[in-house]
Amino acid sequence: MAPFRITYNEWKPEEQKLREALCTLGNGYIGSRGAAEENSNNSFNYPGTYLAGGYNRAKTKIADRNIENEDLVNFPNWLCLSFRPEGGEWLNLENVEILEYRQVLDMKKGTLERIFKIKDPDGRITSIHSRRLVSMKDMHLAAIQWHFTPQNWSGNLEIRTALDGTVKNDNVARYKELEGHHLDPVNTEVFNQNSMLLQVQTKQSKIIMAQAARTQIYSRQKIVKSDITSHQKDGYIEQVFHFPAKEGKKYVVEKIVAIYTNRDRAITEPSLEACNDISRVKRFKHLLNRQEEIYRFLWHRSDIGIIGSKKIQQLARLHIFHSLQTISPNTISLDAGVPSRGLHGEAYRGHIFWDELYIYPFLNLRFPEITRSLLMYRYYRLDEARYAATQKGYKGAMFPWQSGSNGREESQIIHLNPESGNWIPDNTHLQRHVNSAIAFNIWNYYVASDDKLFLSYFGAEMFLSIALFWASKAKYNEERDRYEIHGVVGPDEYHTSYPDSEEQGLKNNAYTNIMAAWVLQKALEILELIEKSRKRELLRVLGIDDAEFSLWQDISKKMYVPFIKDGIINQFEGYEKLQEFPWKDYQNKYDDIQRLDRILEKEGDTPNNYKASKQADVLMLFYLFTQEELKNILENLGYEFQEEMINRNIEYYSERTSHGSTLSRLVFSWIQSKYDKAKSWKNFETLIISDFEDIQGGTTPEGIHLGAMAGSLDLIQRNFAGLAVCDDALWINPSVPDGIKQISMRINYKKHWIYVSVQHEKIKISFEEGWSNEVNIGVLNKIYKFKIGEVREFSLLPQS
Ligand code: BGC
Repeated sequence: MAPFRITYNEWKPEEQKLREALCTLGNGYIGSRGAAEENSNNSFNYPGTYLAGGYNRAKTKIADRNIENEDLVNFPNWLCLSFRPEGGEWLNLENVEILEYRQVLDMKKGTLERIFKIKDPDGRITSIHSRRLVSMKDMHLAAIQWHFTPQNWSGNLEIRTALDGTVKNDNVARYKELEGHHLDPVNTEVFNQNSMLLQVQTKQSKIIMAQAARTQIYSRQKIVKSDITSHQKDGYIEQVFHFPAKEGKKYVVEKIVAIYTNRDRAITEPSLEACNDISRVKRFKHLLNRQEEIYRFLWHRSDIGIIGSKKIQQLARLHIFHSLQTISPNTISLDAGVPSRGLHGEAYRGHIFWDELYIYPFLNLRFPEITRSLLMYRYYRLDEARYAATQKGYKGAMFPWQSGSNGREESQIIHLNPESGNWIPDNTHLQRHVNSAIAFNIWNYYVASDDKLFLSYFGAEMFLSIALFWASKAKYNEERDRYEIHGVVGPDEYHTSYPDSEEQGLKNNAYTNIMAAWVLQKALEILELIEKSRKRELLRVLGIDDAEFSLWQDISKKMYVPFIKDGIINQFEGYEKLQEFPWKDYQNKYDDIQRLDRILEKEGDTPNNYKASKQADVLMLFYLFTQEELKNILENLGYEFQEEMINRNIEYYSERTSHGSTLSRLVFSWIQSKYDKAKSWKNFETLIISDFEDIQGGTTPEGIHLGAMAGSLDLIQRNFAGLAVCDDALWINPSVPDGIKQISMRINYKKHWIYVSVQHEKIKISFEEGWSNEVNIGVLNKIYKFKIGEVREFSLLPQS
């Protein structure tokens, strides 16, 4: 098992769409699925190309309603490359005998290779070694190279290269009835003989994308003389190279593509920039060298080395790789957030959820600049969030559950249950807890990076606006002498209303309430941390006066938290009255009950009636906060906290969760690690293979689950390696599971690069370089001052 490679040794059309998602190449600007370049959209091939922040809205009449959806657009397919011998068929692996097939994702270099030998119905044997890249260094460039050899034949050959803008959004079967045509053709043009240009525009958002492609064929480093014909139609352009091919001779076909849009910086106009790039760019090898170089840097910063399990090592790298395909240093220049399904497919329409919460901890310690830029995506949408709050009668800012182009709420109003074929109302948009996640992310970015300027200016404004929202959303209940939050949905999306109630939303979701109390407490602390002049400005501009301060203080002491008994936190008020769910019966009746909501809806029932959760909800609290932190929050609220409570909550909710979201396994594995190592490891193993093996049976082909991928890396770094990113020090207190021998990584803590390697018996730490000469590192219970270049080892064996 090569730890930097994913290799498939057989052609399996039925698995192709999963492989495409897992072999997606991107650079944080665009992402292109690892589809076959010779095929367009068909039953086994879906060549999607997505642009970070590239959305379009479209209306559909469905179930008697006019629905508007905003999609991450499938932009023109730039991959198209095929061949046919004169008189033969265009290449299609389904119509030939496959003598050899290999597909390799090389994560070290950022390339995808397809190596195959085929025999056509006329007995012609041809071998092709295809290699492609989406340049991380030159973010507007992508390229394919073919090494092409007619093994046993000579004759006239045609190589077809195209740019196809006739594509639509068609990756997700559930969305088939929704309007998926997002592109209008603008222009097609041949230039410099071997180059062509395609321009399209999104119908509503008017994003213009220009793609220019140069194709060249070489033999022994010389350009092969060919007749070039071209064919154009609306939204599509192709060039066909005709030349006599000789048996046994190797031909090198290179297609280099430049992609620009009118959203880019430092451009005059997309097509001119694309054509310029294509006229200037050198050969494939040059791009490959640059790709290898930049990937060396990226891996140096971001690798997590694992000894003891080759499989976990390989999958951890796959997760690092796909995080970087979606968000990379190139993202910093863009107005884009982090879509929960990567730039890898169309599920959730490329929207941005609270999954940032699971993704940033990995970025914070390696690429804090990227987190900052992603937080700015939220900052630029603060006004829309303010508008949303006002519309509902609240103060401050209410960020949407699903966000896209301009930050309005993008959650669907109705969604299709593929099990029943019914379109049903979707009330998951009431997940107001996304606001606390944004606040939590701002705070944790600050702690990890020490970026005071960001905190003072952008961070504090967002944070305080969210605090204002919570303070206006929380209502005082005199009888209880407590504040309450009504009309919300918690992270567990199975519960959106009470049984037999017309009203949407729930009362006092414990997670939401505790997070809101935390936000209000922290907001007061942040005001003391930031520059005085900025504090004055913000208080004035946001209208925060003494009365508001006292309200925040009061709520952060008196927020209501429902309990069931013995320290078991009630998921929401009234949850305790719901029926127990007959888990055994359903496990016997259905192969897979992860998506219980769909099964129950089909049966005319709903999870709202049961104590059955899609994912960890209450348990999120033990995941996000250390014991000490949670104790402080609860005690500040006047509730008792005892350590035994944690395990009781884990046991209670683990019996009542279907893990319908991959994020759930992450949280369970994390919190179980201290109390039940075997269960924790089992959940971790499920989590780490969840996309690779598509454990949800068909969701990964629609896009990876970036929250689960990056979250698994965070679990390795913060839970297994035991890093705790605190203000006083970077604490290291590992608990390496039995299935792993050693974890090593390089991390950036408050602008200091620190190399950490942990094993069962010892920790090795070296302070490599940083902006100051000293850094505080806490090991077990003591803080040590490390000087630049200092390396120390600590034994974890019991001292005699
Ligand atoms: C989960 C959400 C998550 C979303 C996007 C849903 O299935 O329930 O928590 O934010 O997927 O990943």
